[in-house]
Amino acid sequence: MQNLKNVDAEIYSAIKLEEKRQREQIELIASENYTSVAVREAVSSVLTNKYAEGYPGRRYYCGCENIDIVENLAIERAKHLFKAEHANVQPHSGANANLATLLALCKNGDTILGMSLSAGGHLTHGAPVNICGKIFNAVTYGLDPITERIDYQQIQQLALLYRPKVIIAGASAYPRIIDFKRFRDIADRVGAYLMADMAHIAGLVATNLHPNPCEVADVVTTTTHKTLRGPRGGMILCKKELAKKIDSAVFPGLQGGPLEHIIAGKAVALKEAMMPQFKEYQLQVLQNCKVLASELMGYGFRLISGGSDNHLILVDLTPFGVTGKYISELLHKANITTNKNAIPNDKQGPTVTSGLRIGTPAVTTLGMGEKEMKEIANMIYQIVTQKENAVNIVKAKAINLMKKFQV
Ligand code: PLP
Repeated sequence: MQNLKNVDAEIYSAIKLEEKRQREQIELIASENYTSVAVREAVSSVLTNKYAEGYPGRRYYCGCENIDIVENLAIERAKHLFKAEHANVQPHSGANANLATLLALCKNGDTILGMSLSAGGHLTHGAPVNICGKIFNAVTYGLDPITERIDYQQIQQLALLYRPKVIIAGASAYPRIIDFKRFRDIADRVGAYLMADMAHIAGLVATNLHPNPCEVADVVTTTTHKTLRGPRGGMILCKKELAKKIDSAVFPGLQGGPLEHIIAGKAVALKEAMMPQFKEYQLQVLQNCKVLASELMGYGFRLISGGSDNHLILVDLTPFGVTGKYISELLHKANITTNKNAIPNDKQGPTVTSGLRIGTPAVTTLGMGEKEMKEIANMIYQIVTQKENAVNIVKAKAINLMKKFQV
C-alpha cells in the first residue's frame, strides 16, 4: 500500500492498526469472517470506477460490457449455489436487501410479522427504530419461554390474528435450525408472502448443512459477508414471478449505481463456496461451535436453548451476576472480540444486556479446531469468574494463540 501511504498517512496508519488488531485478537463475533485474498483483490479492483445503473444488458451508461460479465457471473453463481430462480446481487447490504424486499411486496402501512429484536431478530424485521418498523405495521413474534426455540404455534396465532402481508423467517442471534417449511405452511394459511433472511446461515445453506429457504420462500435475502465469507454486501433470491418487482425495488426504488467491485467480490466468494473445501470449512464451523458450547456448559454457563445447531452460541451471563456489556468489554481488553447481546426476557436494556453472542466462522477460517475451542472456552471462563484479575494472563494467551493462526 505504498501509494496510500504516500497520499494519506493517517488512513494508511489506521489500516495498519486494524491489520494488527485482526492479527492479535481472537474474533468470535458471529457475523464476522475473513475473506480470501482473491475476494479482496476483486473488491479493490478498477471496477470501483464504473457507473452501471440498471441491470446486465439494460444499463443507463455506456461502457458496461465488462461490468455485465462480472454481474452475470455473480447472478448465475448465486442462482446455482442456492438453487434459486432469480438473483439480484446489487443490494449494498443486508439491511438494503430487506428493505427493498419489503418495498417490493408491501405498501406503506401493510402488516409484516417478524422475530422481535429481543428474541434474536434483526432491526429490519420490524424494530420500531428501523425504517421497516416505521413505514410498515410491524408485529413481532418471540421464542417459546421454556425451550427458547421459535414458537411456531405463536407465529400461527399471530398470523391468523393480524393477517400480515409478509412473514419474515430469519434471525441474527438464534442458535437453532429454522424450520422454513413450517413458516411456509403458516404463510399459506393466511395468504402471506414468506420472506426468509438467511444472512447468518447462508454458508451453511450453501453447503446443505441447513435447510435451504429458497425451496419454500417467495423471497430470500442474505448478507454476503458472514458465514458465506464474501465481501460486505447483500443479495436477494426469489421466484421468477417476483423478479421484476424485486429488481425495480432495488434499482431505481432504493439504490442508484451498484457497487460492481463488491459484486465481483461476491462472485468470487460464490465460486469459492462451490468448492469442496468450503463444505469442509462449514462442517468445522459447526463442530467448533458444538465443542465451544459443550465446554462452556461444562464450566457452568447457561446457553439459550441449551446449545447450538449452527455457528453461534448465545450465553446467559445472569448466573454469574455480570452483564453482557461488562464481560464483552473485559474480553476485548483480553484480546477476545465478542458482542453483548440481549437474551429472551432480558432484565437489562439493549445497551447493557445479560448475554454474550459468540460464533465460530472467523476462528474456523483461521484453521482453529477443537483443541483451540477448549482453550478459548477456558479463557472466557477465566474472564467471567476472575474479571480484571484475569485480563493480562488471558491477553497473553490470546496473542500467543493467534500467533499460530495467521490471518
Ligand atoms: N439480516 C440479518 C439476519 C442480520 O443479522 C444482519 C446483520 O447483522 C442484517 C440482515 C443486516 O446486514 P447489514 O449489516 O449488511 O445491513
